[in-house]
Amino acid sequence: KVRVRFAPSPTGPLHLGGVRTALYDYLFAKNQGGDFVLRIEDTDTARYVEGAEEYIMEALEWCGIIPDESPKHGGKFAPYRQSERRDIYDKHLAEILKTDYAYLAFDTPEELDEIRKEFEQNGDVFAYNYITRNRLRNSLTLSKEEVQKLLDEKVPYVVRFKMPVDRVLNLEDIIRGKTSVNTNTLDDKVLVKNDGMPTYHFANIIDDHEMEITHVIRGEEWLPSLGLHYLLYEAMGWERPEFAHLSLILKPEGKGKLSKRDGDKFGFPVFPLNFKDPETGNISKGYREEGYLPEAFINMVALLGWSPANDREILSLEEMTKEFDLHKVHKAGARFNKEKAEWFNQEYLKSKSGEEILSLLKAVEGINLNASSDEKLLKVISLMQDRATFAKDIFNEGKFFFEAPISYDEKAVKKAWNEETPAILNDFSEKLMNLTDFQAAEIKQTIHDVAEEKGLGMGKVMMPLRLSLVGELKGPDVPEIVEIIGKEESIERIKNAVN
Ligand code: GLU
Repeated sequence: KVRVRFAPSPTGPLHLGGVRTALYDYLFAKNQGGDFVLRIEDTDTARYVEGAEEYIMEALEWCGIIPDESPKHGGKFAPYRQSERRDIYDKHLAEILKTDYAYLAFDTPEELDEIRKEFEQNGDVFAYNYITRNRLRNSLTLSKEEVQKLLDEKVPYVVRFKMPVDRVLNLEDIIRGKTSVNTNTLDDKVLVKNDGMPTYHFANIIDDHEMEITHVIRGEEWLPSLGLHYLLYEAMGWERPEFAHLSLILKPEGKGKLSKRDGDKFGFPVFPLNFKDPETGNISKGYREEGYLPEAFINMVALLGWSPANDREILSLEEMTKEFDLHKVHKAGARFNKEKAEWFNQEYLKSKSGEEILSLLKAVEGINLNASSDEKLLKVISLMQDRATFAKDIFNEGKFFFEAPISYDEKAVKKAWNEETPAILNDFSEKLMNLTDFQAAEIKQTIHDVAEEKGLGMGKVMMPLRLSLVGELKGPDVPEIVEIIGKEESIERIKNAVN
């Protein structure tokens, strides 16, 4: 059975790239009828950020990416937090120490510094590898007795991977195809730190094995570790999963990785939810708080690096699951596009029912709907829905439905107003007063009647009327506006404008 995991480290909030990895993990697993597992990789206590795990879980939930197994949901392979799996790592550490693939390194930071300096003086970069390991204090260079003595004295040590010499590894990636690497270019990575905690590399392959993961889909920053991971599976005598590495999400200009700073600078969100930096207290924008619909957000994210058949663009999570194909994921980096993100939201907003938008609108913070009835709000929504990118736009672009204009746009006044205008509008007001059926059609007829009596075009009535009601020359059809604002309020606004 296909099993895919998303394995974030709680070192900060989930960013766009992380969401895309999680989404592709999920889509692939579900497409194959498999399981999607969330595992928290928290062995690096120095980089741990309080609240990051909760943020990640909440963000995935908002996206609708619900794990089958996770620290929260539990599962057959629990615990799903690496910090709670120490006994499992200890067991496998004992195993790998019996092989020729790992050794104990006792060298102190001072000793390492010394040799590093020597390399730097010669213009070289130091690496702990098949050459330098012979000059350092470790279980390969010390005698058995010496090693035992150090252990008895409780001298701190780390466990390192013994990278084989001069082997060519043939690596396979579902998206990138075949590559190869010579082991001499790789170093002896630490597998277990001096506090006994495994590093990412060791814990990661142990858990992928223990949790029966069949496919590892992750960011391309892990590609350089693939050779080591192949060898770790070999060392443990385990079958390895298949791998796929996803390309970066690029800045809108196309150069460089999209970062939090791009979002902060240009005012667009790069996180699913708002993120408050614990150090600076600054808030980086989240899609949720900006008013994005989760369906629109994940649809946008999914297409950053994958094209469904027939270049279809609007797909629900279910449809994406049906169509998803790892082989069709792009090798090249995908460029983030803010306008496109907004377009997706607009499309999804258009497809919502009035009632759905009503509840979205009511949930927008900091807007005053002036105790409007649902009936009125639904009318406003039906007029404004297609012009809005976010639910909040319906209010912001349609403020005049809720409050009278406090000023009139100067240019518009010049264009729409002359000395005849007050008489025309007063005439209209009077007729409006007597209207029994206060519907857009009757209101339109009234405008028509006024224009005809005065021998004017409809525009001569319509424009100043719009100006009086809205404060500028934009918005939906005037008769509709009059109907929604109502008789009294319309007459009131005309009176204010005329005087
Ligand atoms: N914990 C790693 C990260 O935060 C997971 C990498 C992987 O998926 O192997 O990116």
